[in-house]
Amino acid sequence: MNKKGRLVIISAPSGAGKGTVIREITRLRPEIKYSVSATTRAPRPGEVHGEHYFFVSPEEFDAMVERGEFLEHETYVGNSYGTPRGPIERNIADGIDTILEIEVKGARQVRGKIPDVISIFLAAPNEEELRRRLIGRGTSEDTELVKRLETAREELAASEEYAFTVVNDDATRAAREIIAILDFNREDYL
Ligand code: 5GP
Repeated sequence: MNKKGRLVIISAPSGAGKGTVIREITRLRPEIKYSVSATTRAPRPGEVHGEHYFFVSPEEFDAMVERGEFLEHETYVGNSYGTPRGPIERNIADGIDTILEIEVKGARQVRGKIPDVISIFLAAPNEEELRRRLIGRGTSEDTELVKRLETAREELAASEEYAFTVVNDDATRAAREIIAILDFNREDYL
């Protein structure tokens, strides 16, 4: 029997260190795929088109929306972000588990469309650490930093909507906890 791939939403406030955790998950479990989103945000140093995001113009993004190419799309701190539908549908059909790293409003949309999605909230250990990580990144303007911190506080309040909350005190430990959640939520355990 061909098992369907599962969708795993991971949401985290900006600065919770989700990039490192997700890299750890795919390093430990290379068979798990990461859904590459489209965004109108400018690339940060080191970000690669097609690997971290598909970096598109606002016009291109709108055209993708028009063509119905997104499973969900949202605005976050002034930029558009969207999850391409095609690769996800192929992965589900091919039995490949896929991680969607998206913010809380997009997560709500996906839960509404795909009820058996596994949703995980990744939290920073505390606000001081969150602030330190956001400042440490050093790429955001002051006003953007303030907006990201405000948004992060709002997002923390949304953590109750998620089936699981994992604290990112250590990236490898948090990655292992998420893998354990996925392993114990396989259909063959039920
Ligand atoms: P960043 O600009 O820091 O890479 O991402 C900002 C926020 O947008 C993060 O919370 C990230 O998880 C979220 N995000 C990234 N891709 C998508 C997407 O395709 N859809 C939605 N709704 N959020 C996304």
